[in-house]
Amino acid sequence: MIPHETLHQIPSYLSRDDIGPWGTFLQQIERVTPYLGDLAYWVESLKRPKRILVVDVPIKMDDGSVVHYEGYRVQHNTSRGPGKGGVRFHQDVTLSEVMALAAWMTIKNAAIGVPFGGAKGGVRCDPRTVSMAELERITRRYTSEIGILIGPDKDIPAPDVNTNERIMAWMMDTYSMNQGRTSTGVVTGKPISLGGSLGRHDATGRGVFVVGRAAAQKVGLAIRGARVCVQGFGNVGNAAARAFHEAGARVTAVQDVTGTVFSENGLDIERLTAWQASGRPIAEFGDAQSLEHDAFWDVPSEFLIPAALESQITARNAGRIQTRILLEGANGPTTPDGDDILNDRGVLVVPDVLANAGGVTVSYFEWVQDFSSFFWSEEEINRRLDRIMEEAFQAIWDASTREKVSLRTATYIVACKRVLEARELRGLYP
Ligand code: NAD
Repeated sequence: MIPHETLHQIPSYLSRDDIGPWGTFLQQIERVTPYLGDLAYWVESLKRPKRILVVDVPIKMDDGSVVHYEGYRVQHNTSRGPGKGGVRFHQDVTLSEVMALAAWMTIKNAAIGVPFGGAKGGVRCDPRTVSMAELERITRRYTSEIGILIGPDKDIPAPDVNTNERIMAWMMDTYSMNQGRTSTGVVTGKPISLGGSLGRHDATGRGVFVVGRAAAQKVGLAIRGARVCVQGFGNVGNAAARAFHEAGARVTAVQDVTGTVFSENGLDIERLTAWQASGRPIAEFGDAQSLEHDAFWDVPSEFLIPAALESQITARNAGRIQTRILLEGANGPTTPDGDDILNDRGVLVVPDVLANAGGVTVSYFEWVQDFSSFFWSEEEINRRLDRIMEEAFQAIWDASTREKVSLRTATYIVACKRVLEARELRGLYP
């Protein structure tokens, strides 16, 4: 339910009846505003994106027909630096969703202190239904269409749901061909041989683990033997599950779009990864029990990691969740009403804008390495990543204790102050 005071802020190009994830972001900004002091003067600048580009992506399909896909690139805020944020390929992508994802990037980048603003992109398509050649054409035409906005010092895309290293290689190549020179720094999350960074592939999941470990220390919870449930077994969910598994935790339930598996003693994550990689649905994985989709939320755990899509935890299921620490690997997995229920029930929620910031942190390292054409060892990258995540967690934990607010509100306080201070220092032009 969107509160009345939020409704009047909805821009004319979004539906008032179905404002979607952008409504969640607006409510989060409402909640932090009382803590911003004099900087609240500038808060309106967070309630609308700086730029929105909607593009037509016409593709000649393998059978000769032409299909038009809809693509988006949104730059929410560039006060602190160039736009930065992933590109999502999904049949349900909407403008509201891309706007919210771009805004969460603004908050995330400021919260961990990397010198980027927030941006995000998407194409409304189902990659499972197109051939590899069609996927390449979608990627290249979309990149070409958003070429007027992106660039290594303007806006730097990266992988998100259903996009990966291969797609980043096509994006980099398309942009470079249009520019007439090779420009590796235009995207991050590239293959290593094209200027990608060691450690980037697992960085988001690794970061989820690092902040999870820091949160566990605060509440006196041991990782060894802890039960972990993971929704989404893609880039983020898989790497997070592996990290917890390697640290001695029991990953008892995993869910992806094809099904849910459960094992009281802990799933063999390496075998489950190999099973999934061979194209078989995880629900058919041996040595585990298959569960109904919705039953996933009833599995008791010490750590619950949503790492799929947004709005998964709402007032509908938050009361049933039995966990100690909710680690948001996905962006926007919890709606504000779900968040309130979890907070009331004493679940420690480590918000997306902190928990999944490991990916953009190593994207920042990749961007720096591309600019200097000097590449670091994986050990160096992981060491720096762990330090940034641990320090950000500690600073936000301290802010949450000082202000007596949730970790989410504390993260928004730290981040919004940084963004709005930059806004104030730059001033308005003209
Ligand atoms: P991905 O495409 O690699 O994996 C997505 C996973 O979610 C898949 O396992 C898919 O089966 C599952 N899924 C999709 N719909 C589902 C449903 N209805 N129920 C259960 N599972 C479902 O994507 P990813 O890159 O791992 O991204 C996952 C989330 O993490 C997204 O919210 C994304 O924005 C966020 N994120 C990603 C990165 C990154 O570096 N890739 C960084 C920060 C945040």
